[in-house]
Amino acid sequence: MSTRALFREDAYLTRCEGSVVAIDELGIHLDQTVFYPLGGGQAGDAGTLTLADGTRIEIADTRKAKFEGATPDDAVHVLAPGQEALLAKLAVGDRVTAEIDWERRYRHMRLHTATHLLCAALPYPVDGCSITSGYARMDFATVEPIEREELETRLRELIGGAHPVATEWITDQEMEERPELVRTMSVKPPVGMGRVRLLRIEGIDLQPCGGTHVRNTSEIGELRIAKVEKKSARTRRLVIEFA
Ligand SMILES: [Zn+2]
Repeated sequence: MSTRALFREDAYLTRCEGSVVAIDELGIHLDQTVFYPLGGGQAGDAGTLTLADGTRIEIADTRKAKFEGATPDDAVHVLAPGQEALLAKLAVGDRVTAEIDWERRYRHMRLHTATHLLCAALPYPVDGCSITSGYARMDFATVEPIEREELETRLRELIGGAHPVATEWITDQEMEERPELVRTMSVKPPVGMGRVRLLRIEGIDLQPCGGTHVRNTSEIGELRIAKVEKKSARTRRLVIEFA
């Protein structure tokens, strides 16, 4: 059973129909979904699954499935507290309508795209990243000081520049031949599926990424750099949030 990750082709898709392929202690597995599972620093989606009789099951989070042989796209929809009794109404093979909390996800998309702009503004390897609906946190491996106001001005320029954002694919082989594309130290690009997804912000940034992004940097809107701190002797931590 493999989940078709519909958000990979269209991050703006807010709902889809799907069939239940498994129910386990982690939650509900569907044959296809618009729910993004926690990964690459980006938080998992919340939302609802609506059954044929209109029953709504609240989903609090989405995670990568852990069963043996799971592919990177296999996802599990994690129930919100108190929803467990509703599982009695659900069986493998049932059709459901999956709908994400779009307001929350769109904030993930805007902040996630902004982290790519930070990568472009700062020429250092990334040593950690966390994207929530409230803020994005990035760790850069550098001993150089980062000037907050200067960086904030640069970030605003890049957002206001209205740069198109698009995905493209390269083969595993091409990925191996272009190691300079990888900006994140701790996360290897997902080779082994035959192809790797790249995120291109025209003229600004190009790197492997499986997350969800906005179509144009102008959609990110007003941001501020909430924090720049020295996390360790070799790491500087940045926190950005909506202004
Ligand atoms: Zn990304």
